[in-house]
Amino acid sequence: MTNQENAIRRALRQQLMGDRLMGVTYVPVPKVLDERTLRGGAKVRRLDAETLAQKEQSLRVLDESAVRNCTKCELSATRTQTVFGQGSAAARLVFVGEAPGYEEDRQGLAFVGRAGQLLSKMIVAMGLSREDVFICNVLKCRPPNNRDPSADEILACRGHLAEQLRLIEPEVVVALGAPASKTLLNTAVSIGKLRGRFHDYYPSGVHGEGPSIPLMPTYHPAYLLRSPSEKGKTWDDLQLVLQLLGLALPEL
Ligand code: URA
Repeated sequence: MTNQENAIRRALRQQLMGDRLMGVTYVPVPKVLDERTLRGGAKVRRLDAETLAQKEQSLRVLDESAVRNCTKCELSATRTQTVFGQGSAAARLVFVGEAPGYEEDRQGLAFVGRAGQLLSKMIVAMGLSREDVFICNVLKCRPPNNRDPSADEILACRGHLAEQLRLIEPEVVVALGAPASKTLLNTAVSIGKLRGRFHDYYPSGVHGEGPSIPLMPTYHPAYLLRSPSEKGKTWDDLQLVLQLLGLALPEL
């Protein structure tokens, strides 16, 4: 067997193991992964120490001076605390969810409840850890009883998210669920239609203006907990993300 055949066999085995880790219950038809996936790449951006420290400081300042004291919408009256998000300032990949839930509001951390546990599994299946990526939400405050965010709340909060993405400069954004996808893409198209391919996110806030970042919309982990049969599609989306980042599936 040639080296290339060996590499392809290994990659296919890793893909099947990733499916299993994600809890995908069907046996998918293996896709032949392209050269980039086989080559592998860095999990986080290789920044020099000074640039990294600057990014970390800028994120800290954004959290402490703008987000924590924010009273731009009425959620400031009902939150226990704001949830800025957490992870690496050198992240190549940022996950954006909807809004903090009960646990997130209590702990001040994004995605630490049941949906967060599934998100962690998805990240591990990708061969990454939560420390390699950055995880945050469109809203930084919990809507009472986890109701859907209102249009006004999204409008009031979206500047914080835009600033986070501007500072981190990720290579890819994964938008988890409809509110994150629709907010970042400024569209009313359903998540079922958006997912499965990359779209352009414009940090300038104006479609077509300035450089864009590839954004993959996919299903929210809370939805996957209710509809596990959609995990396979989500895993397909995440594999496209790995491919774009030139990251290999993990050795298991
Ligand atoms: N759902 C989200 O969208 N974000 C969280 O942080 C937790 C659950």
